[in-house]
Amino acid sequence: MDTFRNAPCRRVAPDTFFPDGDDANAGIRAAKQICATCPARLVTECARLAVRGDERSGVWAGINIPSNFGPSRTEARRRLEILAGEKFPDAKRGEVVAHLAASGLTAAEIGARLGVGERTVYRDRKAVAS
Ligand code: SF4
Repeated sequence: MDTFRNAPCRRVAPDTFFPDGDDANAGIRAAKQICATCPARLVTECARLAVRGDERSGVWAGINIPSNFGPSRTEARRRLEILAGEKFPDAKRGEVVAHLAASGLTAAEIGARLGVGERTVYRDRKAVAS
């Protein structure tokens, strides 16, 4: 069975997730917005694929992997590893919440993805911001 058959990215051209050239930043934002509509289960699977495949470019699970090696790619990898984990320490949840919020998800959507209440999402966001 094709796990990703209902993924939103299936409705657009694959190169949407590998933007380059002068419009790369706009393309990355557009790809992230598509990922923000993806079901949580698929986001997790997508992050796993990127981590296991040692992907070195493209937008995966709402995270852009810079094609140039450096701190930004290391950070992208770290975020993907967090998203790919079925369990992560509570201490890391704030980072995941911040990432999902930056992708445009509401507190309710983030809570549903992480299996926590909206109040916990607000608390985590506040903790990361302070
Ligand atoms: S999270 Fe992954 S599977 Fe979902 S839309 Fe984005 S690229 Fe596709």
